[in-house]
Amino acid sequence: MAIATINPYTGQTEQTFEPHGDAEVERRIAEAHAAFGILRSTPFARRAEWMHNAAQLLEDDIEQLARLVTIEMGRPIRAARAEVLKSARGLRYYADHAEEILAPEPLADPSVVGASAAGTRYAPIGIVLAVMPWNYPLWQVLRFAGPALMAGNTGLLKHASNVPQSALYLDTLFERAGFPVGAFHTLLIPASGVEKVLRDPRVTATTLTGSEPAGRSLASIAGSEVKHVVLELGGSDPFLVMPSADIDTASTVAVTARNQNNGQSCIAAKRFIVHTDVYDEFIRLFAEKVAALKVGDPLDESTDVGPVATESGRDELAELVADAVAKGANVLTGGEVPARAGWFYEPTVIEGITPEMRLYAEEAFGPVASVYRAAGREEALAIANGTTFGLSSAVWTNDPEEEEWFIQNLDAGAVFVNGMTASYPELPFGGVKDSGVGRELAAAGIREFCNLKTVWKG
Ligand code: NAP
Repeated sequence: MAIATINPYTGQTEQTFEPHGDAEVERRIAEAHAAFGILRSTPFARRAEWMHNAAQLLEDDIEQLARLVTIEMGRPIRAARAEVLKSARGLRYYADHAEEILAPEPLADPSVVGASAAGTRYAPIGIVLAVMPWNYPLWQVLRFAGPALMAGNTGLLKHASNVPQSALYLDTLFERAGFPVGAFHTLLIPASGVEKVLRDPRVTATTLTGSEPAGRSLASIAGSEVKHVVLELGGSDPFLVMPSADIDTASTVAVTARNQNNGQSCIAAKRFIVHTDVYDEFIRLFAEKVAALKVGDPLDESTDVGPVATESGRDELAELVADAVAKGANVLTGGEVPARAGWFYEPTVIEGITPEMRLYAEEAFGPVASVYRAAGREEALAIANGTTFGLSSAVWTNDPEEEEWFIQNLDAGAVFVNGMTASYPELPFGGVKDSGVGRELAAAGIREFCNLKTVWKG
């Protein structure tokens, strides 16, 4: 895949970039290695000051950055601004909390291990290679970089090939903020160049956010090198609606939960599992509200849904829906590639999905909502858990006993009750099953890339 900005609204190539050659990649790895020597012995307070500067730079550059995101991957401009602000908030969270999260943990009674003092400390581990997706081109990277750098590590970024300008903005951000040269570097390389970097002995760990095949490939290389890996992969999150729920509110939130970021969020609700008692009411409201979304130019302030980021992504959605329709599914709204320039797909609601259809098992990475009818909570849970994914989940109920039952039994990295899944710097984020291993964000996210060092003193 060429490293290029191709505007999904027009389909036109805006700018193409030459990949970094071997010598440039080596220079950047060497600088990251040298910067680790500095950063690991830099006090938290100084790192925090630089991290606050980076957050401020993001806010200062908000208009330039939001426009860039919109042009590179089609995110509606209002949401692109929100991504910039959220990224700044994420950096500030780690600037303010890293020292307390990574504080030494002494054993209350060291005599039980025959020591005068004993406990653990969190030490940085070196260069972490991050392989990142295009769908939130700033937030995905910065929610890794914030904790990694605050822990005293350095970062190398291999960003998705279709967001090179975002990648190059991030390349200089931390240096502009005061961090030493090499604390964070972008490598403009294709996916095929990742293996060589990961096998470099100076690179100690890796993280990938993206598709399951890419995650498996990276993890197998990391495994053969015995390097720590964190994977944030796909999801096909359930959104369950039970009879006691506020159906009108649930149907409104469902529209956003599915169509945010033009439907291209790993934690977007993708399967709507509705109790039969409220099924007809829910799908009527849901389909009406989805049909009312304003689809169009993502630079237009009033646009709700823009194009899908890539032509192949749009074609894949069309194939998933066509396959389901051919096997008997019923489209309630949308279901077509509109006759216009750009890589649009109509926001779609489709019901009657059966296990023979690809939509049943595969992730729809765009504005396509599959609706399932469930006879009761056991069947709803079975449909929800009947997937290889386990990223997040949402359940709508006003019955406390039922709420607790779903929290306990949903096989997912998160359960959101009477709301839609979102990520917050303060809460851990990650999946089970094929959705990944490890956690990002909150205390868990910064500890992932630390050496939990046991200290024993005689
Ligand atoms: P992707 O094709 O896996 O790409 C993600 C990144 O991995 C890109 O930088 C890509 O580089 C690189 N890559 C691809 N194949 C690779 C390989 N074999 N070895 C090393 N690197 C490789 O995924 P995508 O289409 O961009 O993103 C969509 C997927 O990401 C969806 O499944 C979505 O659910 C998932 N996602 C998950 C999360 C989460 O936090 N769980 C968040 C966002 C997205 P190139 O661009 O150069 O190919």
